[in-house]
Amino acid sequence: MTATQLRVPFLDVKGAYLELKKEIDEAVARVLNSGCYILGPEVEAFESCYANYCQAKHCFGVASGLDALSLSLRALGVGPGDEVLVPSMTFVATWMAVSNIGAVPVAVEPQIDTGNMDPKLIEERITAKTKAVIAVHLFGNPADMPAICDVARRRNLYVIEDAAQAHGAAINGVPVGKTADAAAWSFYPGKNLGALGDGGAITVHDDAIADRIRLLRNYGSVHKYCHETLGFNSRLDPVQAAVLNVKLKYLDNWNARRAKIAETYSKRLSGASVKLPHIQAGNVSSWHLYAIRVADRNSVMEKMRSLGVDTQIHYPNPPSRDIPYQPLNYVTPIADEMANTLLSLPIGPTQDESATGAVVDSLTQILY
Ligand SMILES: *Cc1c(COP(=O)(O)O)cnc(C)c1O
Repeated sequence: MTATQLRVPFLDVKGAYLELKKEIDEAVARVLNSGCYILGPEVEAFESCYANYCQAKHCFGVASGLDALSLSLRALGVGPGDEVLVPSMTFVATWMAVSNIGAVPVAVEPQIDTGNMDPKLIEERITAKTKAVIAVHLFGNPADMPAICDVARRRNLYVIEDAAQAHGAAINGVPVGKTADAAAWSFYPGKNLGALGDGGAITVHDDAIADRIRLLRNYGSVHKYCHETLGFNSRLDPVQAAVLNVKLKYLDNWNARRAKIAETYSKRLSGASVKLPHIQAGNVSSWHLYAIRVADRNSVMEKMRSLGVDTQIHYPNPPSRDIPYQPLNYVTPIADEMANTLLSLPIGPTQDESATGAVVDSLTQILY
């Protein structure tokens, strides 16, 4: 069988750089020659462009997506003893941001067809200690923000969006991140908008919350050697800001390429014995990942690998099953079920049609 002799990597993370090499190299050289290596005009330029892209009033570049989440929580006054509702199916950063500020993550199970927090299950997890809810747009598929915000407003909770996988995603024409008190973004290299190293950002609308984030990320200071409060060193690197400003111009185009791959998968796998991702009507996914659910997942994954197609599992351990959270003894059957059946197919802005075809061929050959 030679149908899939082509080797298909899960994601060619260098491909996006090579496509824009000249422009990115020039931007990096500009920073190196500027002599300004902390915050400064490159970071400000990116913050302004990204705020504009997200239709947010403020944007702050920080060191990572994890920091974007924990600084957002701190800026909203969440701290030790507080509880924060988090989805049971997410990357562990969502939970660790809560734990790292001394608060307790409380698991809310997902809707199995989207993987996103089920708004109907939020209310029963609220206690007198609950201060906030973090919604994650898992795999780039927007969470049900109207329903989540509705419960949060009624029960007086802050809402944070973990939009680390959702650059460019939208809900009824509104960019994700817009309805929350703060939205946290990651520019980890494999994300839809990825730097050439670590990076993150927070977008906010409220001026007072913005002022606190501005201080928190920079030693509690806006004027050098004057510290208004305790803070952190969590500043977006200007080299990364310059790279991101180049890449931001191509984000919509690259997301469109991802959407085309997703469309091909959904069309050609519609008859196969797998569960395809479900996007709620009116929503636009960023298609960070294309994850199917399939019985006998580990064996399918192994067979695809032997046919030259690399896949991944997001995530083999839901946070509740990971070592730091085992003592909480959370019961998360839906997250567990997803962890046992999810399989992420290759997707990325530089993946060509022959690679996408090879993925479908390998899967159909295995399943039929
Ligand atoms: C990547 C990711 C993060 C963390 O981002 P880093 O920049 O790696 O710290 C947080 N939440 C989710 C859902 C992610 O996918």
